[in-house]
Amino acid sequence: MSKKPTVLITGASAGIGAMYADRFAKRGHDLVLVARNDARMKELAAKLKAESGVNVEIIKADLANVSELRQVEDRLRDDARIGVLINNAGTAIPGTFVEQTPDAIASLVDLNTTAVARLAAAVAPRFSQAGAGAIVNIASVVALAPELGMSVYGATKAFVLYLSLAMDLELKPKGVYVQAVLPAATRTDIWTHVGRDVDTISGVMNVDELVDAALVGFDRRETVTIPPLPDDAQWDAYEAARQAMLPNFAQTHAAARYRG
Ligand code: NAP
Repeated sequence: MSKKPTVLITGASAGIGAMYADRFAKRGHDLVLVARNDARMKELAAKLKAESGVNVEIIKADLANVSELRQVEDRLRDDARIGVLINNAGTAIPGTFVEQTPDAIASLVDLNTTAVARLAAAVAPRFSQAGAGAIVNIASVVALAPELGMSVYGATKAFVLYLSLAMDLELKPKGVYVQAVLPAATRTDIWTHVGRDVDTISGVMNVDELVDAALVGFDRRETVTIPPLPDDAQWDAYEAARQAMLPNFAQTHAAARYRG
């Protein structure tokens, strides 16, 4: 029997990434865990090795720092055992748009968008060449909801959703699977980072349920998986409305409402 592909998971020291590590270890995949907190990753690696007997490696890297990010890109580019990338590392920052500083916004954008795109770009040519592989990008329902008041965070997640849809169009014909996962509020430390008490938020999903649902979507090879959305016909209708506009964009003249 051929060996299962190794799974590289970013943001694997906590929350959603750590749960993906647990689930892929239980499925018998070797892992490469990436985050900054190597003590937490070592602890998780020892637990997963003991429980599941898989090989678990750790790369300590700050993905908002391009030189550290490059180490992970190199690993993805060169290690043919890695067949799945879980592009999960991400964060949020406190405050409204006017309260957030340009520097805080820039590092949020670096981690939530630049790192996601660079890691996918590092691995996509190899996967395309092999005609196999999977890239999972963790977006958010905030990508669809500026009303939730998380302006730059939501914009980064809209980037991740768009990138995933575009990558799917390009890579699916080459045998590469791309999934965007859109969690809503999930019980992890991210809420502490934005100064919110998660227990004051309604409709919060536990992280095991979120990841298990995302993996159902993964196994079905869904392009967009929104674990909390009860009726997926609503996503289909949203996509249909967007696609209905496409044939109307190429016009020599402005629309009648803009002509004097
Ligand atoms: P979390 O518990 O705060 O975990 C974030 C992970 O990302 C940690 O492993 C953290 O590890 C890593 N990370 C943060 N900054 C990093 C950096 N500069 N370089 C490398 N790794 C870094 O948050 P989470 O909720 O699991 O978030 C995972 C993903 O889900 C994020 O993309 C988030 O936007 C998305 N999401 C979360 C929710 C939610 O409600 N929880 C909802 C929608 C989407 P270190 O600190 O060790 O580096």
